[in-house]
Amino acid sequence: MTISPKIQSEIDLDHEHIWHPYSAMQSDLPVYHVESAAGVRLHLSDGRQLIDGMSSWWCAIHGYNHARLNQAAEEQLQRMAHVMFGGLTHSPAIRLVEKLVAVTPDGLQSVFISDSGSVSVEVAMKMAIQYWNSTGEPDKQRFATLRNGYHGDTLGAMSVCDPVTGMHSLFNSVLSRQYFVERPASRFGEPCDPADLESLEQVLRQHHAQLAALILEPVVQGAGGMYFYSADYLRQARALCERYRVLLIADEIATGFGRSGRLFACEHAGITPDIMCIGKALTGGYMSLAATLTTAEVSNTIDQGNPGVFMHGPTFMANPLACAVALSSLELLLESDWQRRIGQIEQGLRQGLAACAQMPQVAEVRCLGAIGVVEMQQPVEMSRITRQFVEAGVWVRPFGKLVYLMPAYIISDEDLEKLCSAVVEVVSLQTD
Ligand SMILES: *Cc1c(COP(=O)(O)O)cnc(C)c1O
Repeated sequence: MTISPKIQSEIDLDHEHIWHPYSAMQSDLPVYHVESAAGVRLHLSDGRQLIDGMSSWWCAIHGYNHARLNQAAEEQLQRMAHVMFGGLTHSPAIRLVEKLVAVTPDGLQSVFISDSGSVSVEVAMKMAIQYWNSTGEPDKQRFATLRNGYHGDTLGAMSVCDPVTGMHSLFNSVLSRQYFVERPASRFGEPCDPADLESLEQVLRQHHAQLAALILEPVVQGAGGMYFYSADYLRQARALCERYRVLLIADEIATGFGRSGRLFACEHAGITPDIMCIGKALTGGYMSLAATLTTAEVSNTIDQGNPGVFMHGPTFMANPLACAVALSSLELLLESDWQRRIGQIEQGLRQGLAACAQMPQVAEVRCLGAIGVVEMQQPVEMSRITRQFVEAGVWVRPFGKLVYLMPAYIISDEDLEKLCSAVVEVVSLQTD
């Protein structure tokens, strides 16, 4: 557990020059130097090994350093790492899209590939605006969204994130003003209380002439609160969108590819959104790639309007390396008995985290699919709790009041038990 002078000098350079997510440059929070990673283990440069509970934020569903995914990247690298997508195309993108269209909810068939989740949300919002412009309703340019949502960090995506946790007041004059709907109180597994729909219906009734779409995270709200709501609410929200002529955008960037127990969380409600965003686990955590899928109705209508094209085109659109790995990751997932495994992980999380529910410092324990959440009464003290987790041999990164696990699907029962025990132990230490 010693750090070489070379690694220590790198960590010093990091502190001096590099921002980390949501961090201060002059931060005294520790950053841990990772030498390599394999399976569910992070190998720190000081010699310690940590069992990873985060899948690098929903992404690394097959674990790190997977032979099949490495091979897909290496084979594609021998052909070409990248070519522009304007006027050119290639097998990795075509094969990937063929598979995505087959496995996503019926009706989604036009696909825009982009480089990150936030960009896929920008693309979705622009699709909705161009769609209504083409139907002769150019006033429909605003969005309705649920409170406590999270949709990314670019300005358009930020405008539909929760206004409080997203610090909208700070970016007041540049963020478009959107319409915020109360999040449903009915939990996953419960029918929707009719009172939950009042806030949504009121916004739709009053503002539908200005609304391009309702954007939400289906069933699982991620970074805005790790909250699981009634699938019945989602089904009824879909119906209300149709009634008021507002498109539905499902942000499946966190939930996609099995995490909630279904391949896509929309399946819990049996709905097809008009537009769907995917990202994160798309490449199994290898590199940044995202996509926005929509119906023939939306894409055809955009084609028929002015200017007759969809107005977006990133430089690294459909990067062949990323598409090749994504295709391989999707094949790997579909070949596996993922649904059974995620059911077992859910059981393991429920049993392993149950002891937390009795602790006075804990407000609630909740699990769905391969997601386990311990909501504390008070926000955790980040540097202390992170150190305690590392000392317990696990990588868990809480935020605010939320201590949560979303392990790789390939985690063994034994490692899952160790991970949960570490959470129980560390949570019990948070006594002030
Ligand atoms: C992470 C996330 C995003 C943003 O994706 P990035 O790749 O970080 O830009 C958007 N929506 C949801 C639901 C997410 O979890």
